[in-house]
Amino acid sequence: MAAREVIPTTLIDIINETPRVRTFRLALPAGSLFSFRAGQFVMASIPGFLNSKGRPVRRAYSVASSPRDLEKGFLELTITRVGDGGFFSNRIHECRPGDPVNIDGPYGSFVLREENEPQPERYLFVASGSGIAPLRGMIRTILMENRKVPVSLYYGYRTSSDFIYERELMDYALAMTEFELVTALSRGNGSSSPVETPARNIRTGLAGRITRCLPELVREKDGAEIYICGPPEMVGETDAFFRGVGYPDDRVHKEQW
Ligand SMILES: Cc1cc2nc3c(=O)[nH]c(=O)nc-3n(C[C@H](O)[C@H](O)[C@H](O)COP(=O)(O)OP(=O)(O)OC[C@H]3O[C@@H](n4cnc5c(N)ncnc54)[C@H](O)[C@@H]3O)c2cc1C
Repeated sequence: MAAREVIPTTLIDIINETPRVRTFRLALPAGSLFSFRAGQFVMASIPGFLNSKGRPVRRAYSVASSPRDLEKGFLELTITRVGDGGFFSNRIHECRPGDPVNIDGPYGSFVLREENEPQPERYLFVASGSGIAPLRGMIRTILMENRKVPVSLYYGYRTSSDFIYERELMDYALAMTEFELVTALSRGNGSSSPVETPARNIRTGLAGRITRCLPELVREKDGAEIYICGPPEMVGETDAFFRGVGYPDDRVHKEQW
């Protein structure tokens, strides 16, 4: 991965998503030509935050906002504080608005189809934990571009307090019946039967890991384009599931960390 030019950004807002996860909104310098495709990642570093060899500590983060948000001059990274030993994630969680953050990129081939490419019958997103970040950027893009393609999001997290982007995703699903939102809780307070809401396209709080819920949610192959993001085990299991249903290679896109 050849490093790109380092772009100095300014942290302008911090959104507390869950007790361990924050979204960092970064303003690009005036006149910046930075661009990316929904789903790609950048390498982030903090000026003066160096490793034992005196080099900047750099970590990969998916861009969680849409390329369309660049028109407003910002991009967002959604970062889980790893806890003990989480060198960079702990450091950035201590940053405050006004602090500088460097990025370089974009990198990666986990990308949403462009608006001017043929569109699938629907987009089907499967995420676990902070794996929702690049998928949120893709979903925002589809909606901001008014693509008129149905979207399904199957999202797994630990407990009800770990639902990243809860308000935004619920708002999408409440506003659009063609936005299907299903969430599953791997720990604690999941319900063995889905929590029904007045909107039939929303089911939150299924019990168990999202991978275990897939056979009920996807019974046969259709014209969906599938994007999966989460920890390696979850991505492997989800990929195997869709292959078993009959989806070919070029319909299933994966990112893991
Ligand atoms: C393409 C890509 C996209 C990504 N996108 C995102 C994203 O959108 N959001 C996000 O939150 N993350 C994302 N990541 C992960 C991110 O790059 C970092 O790996 C993550 O934030 C942890 O970095 P850290 O410096 O905090 O932890 P590190 O210091 O690198 O530690 C990583 C792990 O090792 C453990 N560890 C560290 N030192 C020790 C030790 N001495 N002994 C035992 N264990 C130790 C830590 O506890 C932690 O679990 C992405 C990764 C990739 C590759």
